[in-house]
Amino acid sequence: MMTFRIDKLIRPNVAKLKPYSSARDEFEDFDADMVFIDANENPNETDVNRYPDPQQRKIKEVLAKQKNVRTANILLGNGSDEVLDLLYRAFCEPGTDNIITLPPTYGMYKVLADINNVENREVLLSADFQPKVPEILEKADENTRILFLCSPNNPTGNSFSGETVEKLLKDFGGLVVIDEAYIDFSDKESWLSALAVYPNLVITQTLSKAYGMAGIRLGICYASEEIIAVLNKIKPPYNVNGLTQKRALKRLLEPEKVKTEVIEIKEQKALLFKELLEVSYVSEVFRSDANFILARVDDAGKRYGQLVARGIVTRNRTTQPLCQNCLRFTVGTPEENKRLVQALGEL
Ligand code: PMP
Repeated sequence: MMTFRIDKLIRPNVAKLKPYSSARDEFEDFDADMVFIDANENPNETDVNRYPDPQQRKIKEVLAKQKNVRTANILLGNGSDEVLDLLYRAFCEPGTDNIITLPPTYGMYKVLADINNVENREVLLSADFQPKVPEILEKADENTRILFLCSPNNPTGNSFSGETVEKLLKDFGGLVVIDEAYIDFSDKESWLSALAVYPNLVITQTLSKAYGMAGIRLGICYASEEIIAVLNKIKPPYNVNGLTQKRALKRLLEPEKVKTEVIEIKEQKALLFKELLEVSYVSEVFRSDANFILARVDDAGKRYGQLVARGIVTRNRTTQPLCQNCLRFTVGTPEENKRLVQALGEL
């Protein structure tokens, strides 16, 4: 097992910076008996005239209880995309450091590397879409800061084997970020319970998928208190807006509703999987732990265009490695899925 020291990973300017502070940092909530004239707000009350809680305490308390972690292990962001960006900005020195990604995977890891001027080293997944451990470890050097594992992986839909992930957590010298955007659709366990074991583990989740709240933008990062403290130093003070905090809290307090929707989506996915197997020009349908299915067709560009002509927009992944002629289908409502299946039959 590698010895892991967070202080060796932090960018020097981040390590020494003094974060922005507000007079309200020390107040739990707006107290009716106090006068808040510290933040240059308009005092006339609407539901949004005040700045939101920069620490999003109410949401974190609910998440901490539900996920069995401490609030100090949680950072919230404007979608998990913001959380990912913060990881680069905290730990990767532009022009010097590098990260490792495993294509085919979520495109933002590379885009964020490019934005932050951080070298993106790629190690393709194996033919069965699993990480190749020896190749990954070989690609890493003393400037490799982060390894991004997406499990269940977008766009392939599969989860990475537990043994493989564990090996990487033990032997990779930098942060191992496991992007669990789709974990709620999977029968496999989240890696959250491993937080106490691996100090280099970072887990990202989101309310955009199973929780049905892509529009409000709430991403979640779970990691050690040390890592979260670094991210807190650099996040914009009010990065999760007040309306988002309200809506997210309400949704998090109705877990049964979310569960029911997830079950329905999984049932629809099973139906769609079978239907796709029946389509004559579909040669491969990949098993998915997420809310989408990747399938190989005879000519992805042609089929994509034909579906658009019938009013159906899918995602053409043909330019991604290992995904030649693959389309990705998000599981929709039963009606939408029927419309897709009917259209596929007509082509
Ligand atoms: N990770 C993965 C694997 C995704 O597919 C997506 C969205 N497509 C995200 C992160 C970003 O999610 P968010 O809406 O939380 O920014």
